[in-house]
Amino acid sequence: MGRSLGTEVDDFIWNLRWRGHRIIQQRVEKYAIACDLKHGHLHAAYKPSHLPGLRADYEEAVRRGMGDEVSLLDRAQVRGLLESDLYHGAIKNTRNLHLHPLNLCIGEARAAESLGALIFEHSQVLEIVHGERPAVITAQGRIDAKQVLLAGDVYHKLEPKKLKGKIFPAMGGIVTTEPLGDLAKRLNPEDLAVYDCRFVLDYYRMTADGRLLFGGGANYSGKDSRDIAGELRPCIERTFPALKGVAIDFQWSCAMGIVINRIPQLGKLSDNVWYCQGYSGHGVATSHIMGEIMAEALTGHLGHYDTFAACRHIRVPFGDQLGNPMLAAGMWYYQMLEKLR
Ligand SMILES: Cc1cc2nc3c(=O)[nH]c(=O)nc-3n(C[C@H](O)[C@H](O)[C@H](O)COP(=O)(O)OP(=O)(O)OC[C@H]3O[C@@H](n4cnc5c(N)ncnc54)[C@H](O)[C@@H]3O)c2cc1C
Repeated sequence: MGRSLGTEVDDFIWNLRWRGHRIIQQRVEKYAIACDLKHGHLHAAYKPSHLPGLRADYEEAVRRGMGDEVSLLDRAQVRGLLESDLYHGAIKNTRNLHLHPLNLCIGEARAAESLGALIFEHSQVLEIVHGERPAVITAQGRIDAKQVLLAGDVYHKLEPKKLKGKIFPAMGGIVTTEPLGDLAKRLNPEDLAVYDCRFVLDYYRMTADGRLLFGGGANYSGKDSRDIAGELRPCIERTFPALKGVAIDFQWSCAMGIVINRIPQLGKLSDNVWYCQGYSGHGVATSHIMGEIMAEALTGHLGHYDTFAACRHIRVPFGDQLGNPMLAAGMWYYQMLEKLR
């Protein structure tokens, strides 16, 4: 965005990226949401060639006044934080947060209801009717509205004329191990959320009950993986040899909405029907930022909305047939480049 829209937008985006953290922290505090919110991330170099990029990120963070919250760690320092020999260095960031996202979602839903919002689960929207007073048609009924915001990410096929070919599903798998007891503290004593620098990355943290929660290996074909635990076990054992043979108690996979240029998409489908979507696997904080921007827009304050709406997005022709094969080919290409570096 900075390259195409200038340095002012670059500064705006840099500052905006922390907005989601602040909204989440304030809500968790105000509504006493129990979602295991904690500070501390480690962005780790999987290969020596990742180190210059990490150093550039670190220097930018320091230049922008985050010197007290970021540190650049060498291999030995990372080894002091994780019982793993995998990484060549890392940025430790104590401003960043991690949490239990479903519990955050449930807590926020309860808070919204306490303020008068009505939430209808299991009521799939089948169609949006445009007009002076738009309406959503569900399998069970019809709701007439002043305004409609479509925020179903990659899970719906509504409004294909305007939205088809803009966003694609990448399937991500996650597992949790059995509770690890004291071993959890030994593997990751500061309870950091960790992710590496690859295009298709591993990411993990400890749960409140001492399990390792480990995600990785996104599948860009748009099809569910059948054996998530089988795919992720070698990654877990490579990261933490002490977990060889550990029991995996839970596994699941879901779709994340990928946008080709990785910039969240928002816009209008008609005068009073809006959409926002496509956080490309980073939606926990970003959906809070976009939620606020869309709330401002729906109530007539368009400043931040206009900045995002000005971004050009790539729309893939025949997106429903070609989108995922193209995404898979693109990811394969970048993974190959990365292997050569
Ligand atoms: C495996 C995995 C790991 C991830 N890890 C992270 C992470 O570490 N950090 C991070 O920030 N993000 C992560 N994400 C991404 C994050 O979960 C998403 O970006 C975020 O949930 C998107 O928020 P959303 O509100 O736009 O959409 P969603 O959370 O997908 O919500 C959309 C809702 O719309 C509903 N819906 C869809 N169609 C209809 C319809 N027709 N009628 C009625 N309702 C409908 C769906 O049921 C759903 O409840 C991960 C995603 C996956 C899949």
